[in-house]
This record gives sequence, structure tokens and C-alpha cells, in this order.
Amino acid sequence: MSAVNTPRIKGWCPGALRPMESGDGWVVRLRAHGGRLTQHQAAGIAAAAQAHGNGLIDLTGRANLQLRGVTPDSHGPLIADLRALGLIDADIAAETRRNIIVTPFARAKTDTLAAALATALASSNLILPAKFGFAVDTGAQRLLADTPADIRVERDTQGGLILRADGMATGAQVTARNAPQAAVALAAWFLSQGGAVGGRGRMAALIRRGIRPPDATRTPALTAPAPPPGPVPQGMLVAAEFGQISAPTLSALAETGPIRLTPWRMLLVEGAASLPDLPDLILNPDDPRLRLRVCTGAPGCPQALAETRAFARRLAPGMPPGRVLHVSGCAKGCASPTPADLVLVATPRGFCAIRDGLASGAALGHDLDPDRMPPLPELF
Ligand code: SF4
Repeated sequence: MSAVNTPRIKGWCPGALRPMESGDGWVVRLRAHGGRLTQHQAAGIAAAAQAHGNGLIDLTGRANLQLRGVTPDSHGPLIADLRALGLIDADIAAETRRNIIVTPFARAKTDTLAAALATALASSNLILPAKFGFAVDTGAQRLLADTPADIRVERDTQGGLILRADGMATGAQVTARNAPQAAVALAAWFLSQGGAVGGRGRMAALIRRGIRPPDATRTPALTAPAPPPGPVPQGMLVAAEFGQISAPTLSALAETGPIRLTPWRMLLVEGAASLPDLPDLILNPDDPRLRLRVCTGAPGCPQALAETRAFARRLAPGMPPGRVLHVSGCAKGCASPTPADLVLVATPRGFCAIRDGLASGAALGHDLDPDRMPPLPELF
């Protein structure tokens, strides 16, 4: 039996200038330059989220922020406030093109490289698919290998820089100086090879068709796992319950230090030795909520067949150690593109259970009543 509800798939990503309608109003996605916010910018975003939205802010898997609950009337004033903070691009095309994720532990040279790439993309006239993105992952070990990106600037095994097309095991040698233009050229090559059709397309899919970029002989450096929340040499990493924080929480963090956005739904508060104890923050690496993947659900998502977050919060204390639970408001499975040990997917009659799979996978048996759930270890 497969999950019964059929989700709607959208072919584009929301931005700040092109918000997406959701169950709790418009969602406005912000791409911080270089994945970094000054204290002034972070405080300003918190104030704007409160004034023009519902005060809830998502941390996305591509290190962006999403301000929720914006309305057609409040969108204009919100953009004006964000533009004054230097967070808004000239137009939708520029915003779409500047899809760059930067390793959260970047040093100054990496920030410079990422800024140069943003400039090179801005001055190019490439029309790239909405989801087409770049990763600047130039630490000694790669941290963004599992983060979706189409073109990657990385270290190789000898400590040099390479440019790698996603899907390729090897990349081309580049320097910090020529990497931005080489990345733009590789994006142009992707288009010239027919990688984008009807505004969609990904580099890895092109590579799977047997089409290879020229000059890809260098092997990338080893990868490292995402670190747990807690102290790191650069400051404090803090996770957010369900990847969402409130405007007052962001405001409190902004008082502590500049913020780097990560693809792990965590924030790095630079230079911080401790953080305020706030209910939507997770600092304990053993907190079971870190092993939950939970989508917006009802009422925030119009496609949701059930509320997901309070349900998941109730389930969290019963999670078996080390196991991952995905709770999804429909079979689209937005919260987890990769399999989880157990998936509970809302249906018109309750929740169906899927083991070791995706929200779109085959369900185990009859739908479960969320108010009469068997003990979780029996389902895993
Ligand atoms: S998975 Fe969740 S957030 Fe995504 S469309 Fe379904 S209900 Fe909405």
C-alpha cells in the first residue's frame, strides 16, 4: 500500500521578491550574502518578521531564512525594511541566480571568494533553473557534500582548489582568483549542453546522461559530518526545534554576536561562549528533537492533511536512541529528501507508517490514530 495523498509539486523556489503562498500567509525566503548576518541585520530581520509577518522564521536546508505569515499588504513594507538592511537583490533574476551556499566555518578568504562568485553571477546574463545552486566548500574537509548544489568549489586532496560539477567524482583545478569566472563558465556549459529544459534541470542529471565537463582530474578532499550543536572554535552552534525560531529568539541571538547560517538548520553565533536559554533553541546534542524531521504541516501548509509539530513534540520523548523519525503532513515529504528509519505520513484517516523510507514510500499497514499511537519502539 502506498501513501494515499497526492502532493502538488511546484517547479520554482520562493524568494524575497517572489514569495510563496502557504497556509499561514506568504513565505518570504531570504538569501543572506555569504550566508552571514551582522548583528544589525539579524536584529532587523527579527523586527521585520514581527512587524510584517507572523514572527516565525524557518531555517532552511540551504542555509536560507524564511519569514512566514506575510500578507499582500505587508510584503512591500517588509521588502523596504530588508532592502535597507542590504538583503534584497535588484530583481527576481538576480535573486534566483545568487543561489550560493558557503561553508559555515568559512574564513576571510572563503568569504572573499563567495562574494566574488556572487558578483560574477550578478554580472552574467545566465538564466539558470530556479533550484540551480553553487557551494563554496573550501575548508580542509568538505562539509557541504550532502547539501544540494550543482557547481562546487572545494579543496582537493592536495589542499588546492577545484571546481566540481555535481555528480562528477573529480573536478578541475582552479585558483581563488579564477574560480568565480570558471564557475560561471561551467554553468554556461551546463546550459549549452541542454541541462535546462523548461526552466528545470540539475547538473547531476546531465552528468548521469553521460555528458562530461572538460578537465576534471582532481579528487576532492574528504568529507566531515555536520557537527552537533554546542561550542565550536568559531562560537556556538545552536539548533532550532523543527528548524524554526521566533523573532524574539533571533533578536536575542543577534545581541550575542554575528550569525552564520548553516544547511543543518542550525545557526552559528560567532564568538559566543554561551547563549540564552530559550525554548525553541536546542544546545544539547542528545536532545531527541534533533532526530526528528518534521514539515510545517497544518495549518501552515495548505496541502497538509494533519498538524505535525505538536504531534512530533509529543512523540519525541519515546524515540529509540539513535533512530530518526520523519513526520510528514502529506506524501510530498518536504522535511526529508533522504530516507528515515520511520516515517509517519498524514492521510485522511490518521497517519500511515513507513519503515526505512521516504514519505512517498509503501506504508506498513492500517492508518494509525495519532491519539492512540502504539509505543514508538514497536513501530521502528
Ligand atoms: S510535506 Fe508537509 S510541508 Fe510539504 S507539502 Fe506536505 S504537508 Fe506541506
